[in-house]
Amino acid sequence: MEQFKKVISREVINDKNRREIEGMIFDIILNHINDMVFIMKVDGDQFRYVFANKAGATHAKLTVETMGKTLYEVMPLMIAERLQAVYNTVLESKEVQVFFDQSTLEDGKMVYGQSILTPVLNENKEVRFVVSVTRDITELETEKSRLIVTEQRYRSIVDHNLDGVILATLVGDIIDANPASEHLSGYTIDELKQKSIFDFVGEDADKFREFINHSLSGISLETLDFRMVNRNNRKITVHIKTVPLTIHNKITGIYMIFRDITEQATNAETIKFMAFHDQLTGLYNRRALLRDLDILLNQSVSNNEEPFSLLSIDIDRFKQLNDSLGHFAGDQILIKVAERLSIDRTDDYKVYRQGGDEFIVLLKGNRQSANQLAQNILKRFAKSFYLESHEYYISPSIGLSMYPQDGKDAETLMKNADEALFRVKEKGKAHYQFYRSEKTQSFANIVSIETQLRKALERDEFILLYQPQVELRNGKINSFEALIRWNSKEFGLVPPSEFIPLSEDTGLIIPIGNWVIEQACKQIKEWNTLCDEDISIAINISAKQFQQPTLVNTIKKAIQTFQIKPSLLEIEITEGIMQDTVETAPILKSLKDLGVRIAIDDFGTGYSSLNYLKNFPIDGLKVDQSFVRGIHNNEKDAAITTTIIHLANSLGMTVVAEGIEEEAQAEFLLNTDCHKGQGYFYSKPLTKMDIEHTIFNRPANS
Ligand code: C2E
Ligand code: MG
Ligand code: MG
Repeated sequence: MEQFKKVISREVINDKNRREIEGMIFDIILNHINDMVFIMKVDGDQFRYVFANKAGATHAKLTVETMGKTLYEVMPLMIAERLQAVYNTVLESKEVQVFFDQSTLEDGKMVYGQSILTPVLNENKEVRFVVSVTRDITELETEKSRLIVTEQRYRSIVDHNLDGVILATLVGDIIDANPASEHLSGYTIDELKQKSIFDFVGEDADKFREFINHSLSGISLETLDFRMVNRNNRKITVHIKTVPLTIHNKITGIYMIFRDITEQATNAETIKFMAFHDQLTGLYNRRALLRDLDILLNQSVSNNEEPFSLLSIDIDRFKQLNDSLGHFAGDQILIKVAERLSIDRTDDYKVYRQGGDEFIVLLKGNRQSANQLAQNILKRFAKSFYLESHEYYISPSIGLSMYPQDGKDAETLMKNADEALFRVKEKGKAHYQFYRSEKTQSFANIVSIETQLRKALERDEFILLYQPQVELRNGKINSFEALIRWNSKEFGLVPPSEFIPLSEDTGLIIPIGNWVIEQACKQIKEWNTLCDEDISIAINISAKQFQQPTLVNTIKKAIQTFQIKPSLLEIEITEGIMQDTVETAPILKSLKDLGVRIAIDDFGTGYSSLNYLKNFPIDGLKVDQSFVRGIHNNEKDAAITTTIIHLANSLGMTVVAEGIEEEAQAEFLLNTDCHKGQGYFYSKPLTKMDIEHTIFNRPANS
């Protein structure tokens, strides 16, 4: 600008040579630059055009004629007034003034101009001329406003974003952050700018660093569930998205967009928890059991069939407790039961509530550890429970199945544990039982059980238990039913239902049956020498046995061998035997001739023809336990029982009711003139020693 002033002042000096050269230079410069140059002469309070370069003349539509005219004469009034005002300020200040203006062209296009107005002073420091250089900055302005719009758009997205947005350098230092990040992190934007993005990540720091580094390689990433610790030390779960900041093809930083999903995460966790847990006890539920069993089975398969056990646990008499104490108390009991079952829980020992009072335990380890745990659980329940200051004894029954012996899939393992549990319940509860120890392997390994069964006689593995038959009138006991058990080394104590059918199929029933006959006669002898009164024993004879031509002889021999009164031996046969009347009649007659008593077992459940009662020499009927069980809640059972008793009485037969479990049943039977009763209410089947000790009042060691 100084330079320019000098040039102008020299022109005023009017040096001829220089003027020529300078004129040329002016010409070139002024007419070749895009800026518009105007020189205005100050004339009082008016400004007159004295020079305009090509650009200026074109833009302002000046001609040679316009030279010497004032602003007002040349320009439209509005523009003239504005320009006059600016020129006035130069006049007053005598200093360079810069001003911007905008104008609309005829075609409606906006143009922006930046003008530099320079005063030219004479020796008296009076402003003589004003040189105006105006530059068209339309393009610059457009670009600037485009940038502003872009910036504002960007800020709108960022500032009003509900997600936190943070811009960080390549090493993680925070450069910028939006208001939502303030809210999420608990720090102000200024404080955030002092921090690093790595300052917030808690437990997953390594994972997070890896994630960021990966993103810095130029990939936009999205991930779920990072735990962030905010200013108040609150852990929040955030969903993070990263966008690398690329400028001129170079990654210069990273944007992190993070959303607080704590609530959803908590909800999701709650839902997950509820899906796999029992609401009442907080234990795992059935769904979790199926899931875990699946995992365990897979693990065990790949670990060389590593064993584990499944314990099916049921609370004895829970239904009665629940009914008598109410459901609230029932729930409290279940909670306490769950607590006791959960003692010493580990990763290898998990407890589930199947529903109701059914619990399942999965335990990794062999049979021995399962055995140990079952014993421990029973011990834990030996201690009483307190409920509203009342004391209750609650016992569990436990059925166990082992992987892989008892099943290789979830369903089989559960089914077999349940079956073992069922046996426990049947045997009087509060106990535990492995699936295989009692269950014959007849399905899995029929040869094995048959082999064992054949050896059982030589090994002396059979025993007879005796169940007292009580005279309902006076409570006297002078007869017993002999019930066989197989005390197998391999399978434990096996009930007759498990091996009698197989014995029949294989013909083993004959030697086994003979053993029973002999054993019973021996026992009759023993007990009758012991007691003053007659003691009789009933034995069960199966259909196959009955058809053996040697049966009568065998019995005859036994009676003779032990020299017992034949009437003290009772033969229990089922109705099925009566069907084959041609063969049956002579056998029954021969037996009768021997003098033994004949009773029909499970009367009313099989082939029932009253004809045989008339034709055959029957001494007694045994009312099946299925009728006795329903005496009180099933009118039909009561009617059938009453009818059978009346029938027996009127035919002069004795009648024994089986399966009496409650006093009320005994009372009903007494009132209906039933002679004898047999069942758990009086006694379970007992060993010979027990009978002698408890029934005959003999010292146990005698
Ligand atoms: P059963 O002759 O009808 O014997 C009665 C069954 O009812 C016995 O089962 C006995 O333990 C059971 N019981 C007794 N009181 C009650 C009670 O109050 N409630 C319940 N729920 N059950 C009670 P066990 O000893 O398991 O014998 C089952 C069956 O096996 C017998 O039925 C009999 O048919 C057969 N059995 C038993 N011993 C022999 C035997 O030496 N030879 C033959 N061939 N069969 C036998
Ligand atoms: Mg019987
Ligand atoms: Mg029976």
